[in-house]
Amino acid sequence: MSLELRGLSKDFGGFQLRPIDLTIQSGEFFSLLGPSGCGKTTLLRLIGGFEKPTTGQIILNGQDITNLPPHRRLIHTVFQRYALFPHLSVFDNVAFSLRIQEKKKSEIESRVTETLRLVEIESLKARRVPQLSGGQAQRVALARALVDQPQILLLDEPLSALDPSLRVRMREELKALCRKVSSTFVLVTHDQEEALQLSDRIAVLRDGRCLQVGAPKAIYEDPVDAYVAAFIGPTNEIPGRIADDPGEHYLLESALGHFKIKKNGTPPGQEALLILRPEKMRLLRNKVAQANIIEGQILDLTYLGSRTEYTVRIQNQAFKVFEQEADRSKKRLLNVGDKIHLTWRTEDGMVLGAQA
Ligand code: ATP
Repeated sequence: MSLELRGLSKDFGGFQLRPIDLTIQSGEFFSLLGPSGCGKTTLLRLIGGFEKPTTGQIILNGQDITNLPPHRRLIHTVFQRYALFPHLSVFDNVAFSLRIQEKKKSEIESRVTETLRLVEIESLKARRVPQLSGGQAQRVALARALVDQPQILLLDEPLSALDPSLRVRMREELKALCRKVSSTFVLVTHDQEEALQLSDRIAVLRDGRCLQVGAPKAIYEDPVDAYVAAFIGPTNEIPGRIADDPGEHYLLESALGHFKIKKNGTPPGQEALLILRPEKMRLLRNKVAQANIIEGQILDLTYLGSRTEYTVRIQNQAFKVFEQEADRSKKRLLNVGDKIHLTWRTEDGMVLGAQA
């Protein structure tokens, strides 16, 4: 059941969601990721039919649903605050829409029971909403949407009300649920880790514009610009100018030194930004003769068990470097104040032209 957005836009006067063209495939887990106020919820509300677009069309399975009211779209929304009925039991909350549709009692019984089993809260069916934990209420909200067997399930920050450890567990369950049912999931989130973990594809939004659409790996490793690069994960940036170099690489001439970079289509002479992920950089206790080496000093460190996160001063810049415990193995632990060298593989450096 594919969902196609054609030139979909919304003008609120003060805020404009720019025209978006996007096709979300059947069964896909798709995330709308961006900071607060970028327009994610507005886009979700347009898809759900709670907001009328200024321009464009919404096509579900080849059918234009742009002007259909929400309840005729086969699209369901799980809202941030769940919007459960507090005076009803879990069973009655989930059965609510089937009763409105005047389904037979036996069908309601079997569909609700099956859905409660799917989200693993069958044993709670007689409980009332105030007697539920945050995670349980979350499952009821999911069950209430899934009982209608929607083609598209819209999730508006569904995990944001949960405490951090439960949030991480529910992410895994949400992903498993998406595999079990045939619905397409569209998630709104401002949490890049959540988007990376759950999604088949992610759209990154900023100020009402869709900057990039791609698989998590593509967004993380091949971002279109410095904003997307930094939003999806921590970065270190080295600005400079591209210079030619005999061989398969170019050089980046920067205030920190000359570094080998991939050829990315930006020609020599142009300004460019070299972006390095902290986990792609290595700390050398002793200097070795190789390309891409910078001298630095440990400013700060945080030991996190599986890895240590270092802040390294390089001239006047602070770089983040993550060292996995497994990679450190026999090397000595570093301390604040230690002089070290930083290095990275040329292919791990992301190069963005100045126009990006
Ligand atoms: P958050 O993560 O904070 O929920 P968001 O990315 O979901 O943010 P939206 O809720 O889509 O952002 O809001 C985008 C912009 O549109 C905001 O500036 C908001 O004030 C504005 N906006 C949303 N709904 C309306 C409305 N009905 N009328 C006018 N402006 C609106």
